[in-house]
Amino acid sequence: MLSILQVFRVGIGPSSSHTVGPIRIARRFLSECDQAGLLDRIEQIKVHLQGSLALTGIGHGTPRAVLLGLLGLDPETLDIQMADAAIVQIEQTRRLALLGRRDIGFDPATDIILDYDVIPDLHPNGMHLIARNGSGQTLFEKTYYSTGGGFFASAEQLQTPATNDQIASGVRTVPYPFTSAEDLLAFCADQNLSMADIVFANEDTFRARAETVRQLDRIGEIMLACIDRGLQTDGILPGGLDVKRRAPGIWDKLKHAPPSNEREQLFDWLNVYAMAVNEENAAGGQVVTAPTNGAAGIIPAIIKHYCLDAEASGEKIRTFLATAGAIGLLYKQRASISGAEMGCQGEVGVACSMAAGGLAAVWGGTPQQVANAAEIGMEHNLGLTCDPVGGLVQIPCIERNAIGTVKAVNAARLALHASERMKVSLDQVIETMRQTGLDMSTKYKETSQGGLAVNVVEC
Ligand code: SF4
Repeated sequence: MLSILQVFRVGIGPSSSHTVGPIRIARRFLSECDQAGLLDRIEQIKVHLQGSLALTGIGHGTPRAVLLGLLGLDPETLDIQMADAAIVQIEQTRRLALLGRRDIGFDPATDIILDYDVIPDLHPNGMHLIARNGSGQTLFEKTYYSTGGGFFASAEQLQTPATNDQIASGVRTVPYPFTSAEDLLAFCADQNLSMADIVFANEDTFRARAETVRQLDRIGEIMLACIDRGLQTDGILPGGLDVKRRAPGIWDKLKHAPPSNEREQLFDWLNVYAMAVNEENAAGGQVVTAPTNGAAGIIPAIIKHYCLDAEASGEKIRTFLATAGAIGLLYKQRASISGAEMGCQGEVGVACSMAAGGLAAVWGGTPQQVANAAEIGMEHNLGLTCDPVGGLVQIPCIERNAIGTVKAVNAARLALHASERMKVSLDQVIETMRQTGLDMSTKYKETSQGGLAVNVVEC
């Protein structure tokens, strides 16, 4: 089993697969060179971005991510202002300190190559790195794949089911090894435990319970801080689309709206919290993958609106995140959370499903009702395409998180009105999402070659 803390990763915007993953890959590549005793001999690095990483890499900040990774920075801990300054310096000097230690010549304009025509068979987000010595001889080269949510894998790992994905290193034997919703529900029924209880028992094999609690609390805090920044930061988002941040204006109106508008305002609150996060993400700010950056607004918005009680907010947030995390793991293990593989159903659809299940748990739903909520949350996102305008994580992504949040709440409400198993199970809808993703044209899978991306004129 994986840990739910691998679903909720702290990173920077705008994309988990195109920003966080490539940072981690570039860093890993140089660490492997270092372990092989090659770092001191490297004089040249070439980075080839393939498939979706090339097609939407510029809008998703992938070249910048590559530089941060080569510098040895960690997406979880890097200081965004210092990182920006380091990138300006590389662009001006054409020199880069490998892992922050050894300076070599590096020109981002020519040493990062966008291979638009290379669509890798193993996964659409390929990244091939080559290290050469001063004579131009190859010292080390390797291809990795950014598989969504900040996860990555080498070709060998993707080709070997037993170690499928880089996540293999984080796999543990746990007391309740569920690989399907059916397994998970059976454990809950046999042991008379909630989904969150099952998750915490499994997490105990990764680390002490107090540390899991601390880390979940930290994730909740970072999510809420991201909302606060987004609500207070005005202006135009970077990237050239001229998209104005809307969250601060909506928030301002809401704060001063008369109480008589309360019935209509539920959607406004949910919308504004989700949009605040995704505007921060689009601006390259700090966000938590949930399960990806593009879909990072839905889970924090639900926490902000439904989990912050005076007495039990810590408990509620942990129950919510543990339950949502379990559902996210099911999608990760049985299908994919990569927009480049599944379209947006694999990002916003999965986030909606996770949030619906988590909220049903917070509202006291049984494990079956939680599974039903998660199923409904995905059922009505099936077929959702990924067609970001200008390759930027802005249109439709920001509003889509707002809509996904409202849909998650509705899914949880619907699920709580029925106690029995629904006609469509969570496992069936996950498999349907997977098959739909495989059948979907590549035009609609994070390539910006179809949908809104070709029908909206950039100006
Ligand atoms: S459309 Fe969806 S999957 Fe595509 S970049 Fe936007 S949020 Fe991510």
